[in-house]
Amino acid sequence: MPDVVVVGGGIVGAACAYELARAGASVTLLEREELAAGASGRNNGLWVTPTDPQLLPMARVGLRRYLDLVDDSPVPYRLDRDPIGLLAVALDENEMTLGARAHDPYRAAAVEVEELGPEDVLRFEPALSPEVLGGWLVHHGHRLAPAALTVALALMAADRGATIRHHLPARALIERAGRLVGLVTDEGRIDADEVVVATGPWAHALLDPVGHRLPIAGARGWLVRLDAGPVPLHRLVASAGWELATGRWEDGAVRAGSLEDVSAATSTLLHPTTDGSLIAGSSRQPVLTPEAEEPGVPAMIVRGAIRLVPSLAEAHVRSGWWGIRPMTPDERPFVGRLSDGLSVAAGHGSEGVILGAGTGQLIASLLLGHDLPFDPAPFDPGRLGIVAG
Ligand SMILES: Cc1cc2nc3c(=O)[nH]c(=O)nc-3n(C[C@H](O)[C@H](O)[C@H](O)COP(=O)(O)OP(=O)(O)OC[C@H]3O[C@@H](n4cnc5c(N)ncnc54)[C@H](O)[C@@H]3O)c2cc1C
Repeated sequence: MPDVVVVGGGIVGAACAYELARAGASVTLLEREELAAGASGRNNGLWVTPTDPQLLPMARVGLRRYLDLVDDSPVPYRLDRDPIGLLAVALDENEMTLGARAHDPYRAAAVEVEELGPEDVLRFEPALSPEVLGGWLVHHGHRLAPAALTVALALMAADRGATIRHHLPARALIERAGRLVGLVTDEGRIDADEVVVATGPWAHALLDPVGHRLPIAGARGWLVRLDAGPVPLHRLVASAGWELATGRWEDGAVRAGSLEDVSAATSTLLHPTTDGSLIAGSSRQPVLTPEAEEPGVPAMIVRGAIRLVPSLAEAHVRSGWWGIRPMTPDERPFVGRLSDGLSVAAGHGSEGVILGAGTGQLIASLLLGHDLPFDPAPFDPGRLGIVAG
């Protein structure tokens, strides 16, 4: 069995470490800060059906793993066993049009979608605005605690013999005669048969110097926690077409010549958490500076929340935070081998929780020569023709 070093202690690195250790590899996981320090500890914690059909097998394999592990997890990650449902509502004609378009991918994925008139929408969710024109109840949506899930997978990897190192950044990868042989940390060199780079939006810092220039860029996303007393919603609620509202990433990619025009795109998704608060999201904006580019984004998100649920105007704003999504031009992650001894698992965009455990299973199968859990072609790091060997 190979000695594998996984770099990055987010959901993707933790899932890779878990699956590799479970399959018998000798694993070291390196995290430069704490586990889940990046977007993996700062996201909405939702498993919803991907709209890209190429992502479905990876997503479904992953959900099965989370469900299998939830009862034995050393840290409770509070995953809904059954989907709680997502109600997408239209308050104007534009949203009616968006909603009519947005739900075909779910139907194609065999997820039940009920089209509802305004009375039915208000019967399901009486707190919604009386101006609602219609809605779609999509029978998916599992909630979980994302930081807890990440830590749980790392601890379960440790139970199977993995070594977890915190506050230990990988500084550089070491190649010899065209083969990756290890990496350098602040404590010195670590030799490895295999290195998996799972550092999300920071993958370029390790991969560019060894000639693998993957187009992964950071997109900041904000969330706001509201305390509205008894939670006024029973299921996830979104503005119809929320999946389409922020546009495709390639449309939002920054060109140097139009830097001044970059602004945050928002769409409304309300998540009644299992702890009784409500998380309102979200936004998407290219990361240009270390701190938030637009401090007004949380107010835009809260405005969207109040538009859907007017009583939220009286809710207390408890906190707001952001995470950085690792985006790729086709919004699919790069998962696979780059060269002898070097693999990548990065670029999970808005779906790192949804795709995390499936990514770990694919990496473990590729590195250990086991049967693949699903077709790896959509995740091939060379698919866009940009990777230099
Ligand atoms: C607002 C928001 C809401 C979201 N909601 C959802 C959701 O509901 N469902 C969903 O599936 N996804 C969601 N996402 C997306 C999800 O959070 C990401 O896709 C996912 O966290 C990416 O995981 P990762 O492990 O690749 O990256 P990260 O979580 O960024 O982890 C990378 C880790 O690598 C470490 N690192 C970096 N460089 C080094 C180095 N040189 N050495 C050692 N360690 C290093 C970092 O410290 C970090 O901990 C959301 C994202 C945002 C921002």
